[in-house]
Amino acid sequence: MTWYSVRMRAAEGGPHEQGGSHISGGERIVGEDGIEAMVQSLLRRAMTHEKGRPDFINLTVEQVPEEQIQSLTALPIRTRHAADLEEGRAAAVDLLAECGIGREIAQQAVDLIASGPAPDGGAMRGAIVLDADTGERLEADRARGVRISKIDWDPDALVQWREGVAAHGLANERIAEAVALATKVISTPGTVAELCWSDDPGYAAGYVASKRLGYVRIPYLKPLGSPLGGRVYLVRGVQDAAAYERELQVPALVRAMPSQPVLPYLDEKGELTAK
Ligand code: AMP
Repeated sequence: MTWYSVRMRAAEGGPHEQGGSHISGGERIVGEDGIEAMVQSLLRRAMTHEKGRPDFINLTVEQVPEEQIQSLTALPIRTRHAADLEEGRAAAVDLLAECGIGREIAQQAVDLIASGPAPDGGAMRGAIVLDADTGERLEADRARGVRISKIDWDPDALVQWREGVAAHGLANERIAEAVALATKVISTPGTVAELCWSDDPGYAAGYVASKRLGYVRIPYLKPLGSPLGGRVYLVRGVQDAAAYERELQVPALVRAMPSQPVLPYLDEKGELTAK
């Protein structure tokens, strides 16, 4: 099978590298038959994004040899209850602390996304790389951050995953994409945990992910209407963010399911509940 990486990034006010503000992006891998539809779908995503109308869109189609593709097992999903923004952010700090990250650094990760981590006070195009012990930001470019690329679900695995999570109301494209990205970063050497919430004004949910906890959805991590969101990759033993990013960009397909795609819910004490 020949695969193609299809990726898109869109900005308003010129290209990202000339100071344009990030509107939307996407990373997919498809077979030859799927290229045209995927280009169309990513173009539509860019042109109809609620963050604004881009005046710069970059679409790249690139062949990826099968033998270069890493096979990943999807992280399982669970939900941590949170009634509002304060509870959600407190839950994120608790979960990061459970991953062995000091509470101060965990709070710093939350505050960084909340305050707009790019130099212009907006969202970045990629992720912050944060040293989990010192709190130092390691990414060279604070507008771009580091980006995972060439990532997707194997089509058969995606069908299986959707079936496994549908009864829990989780079988949507946004969550599928986020699980693939989180699975990739958590499998990358040096990553301790990830914190993410979207920069889409209409989407308030986010997650904390780690090898042990899996992908933990938190229903409220930002106020609705806010264009501020982002990702923080908390790392240990990473000195060179460029080398770390090269690992994030090794082509990968999520090809295997965890034994349980959906794990029990966690309550505010971090305990399992029956719901
Ligand atoms: P989204 O979940 O698409 O709303 O993205 C939220 C934030 O995650 C963006 O503002 C970026 O900072 C970051 N992000 C999006 N895509 C990637 C990627 N492929 N790699 C790293 N960070 C990303």
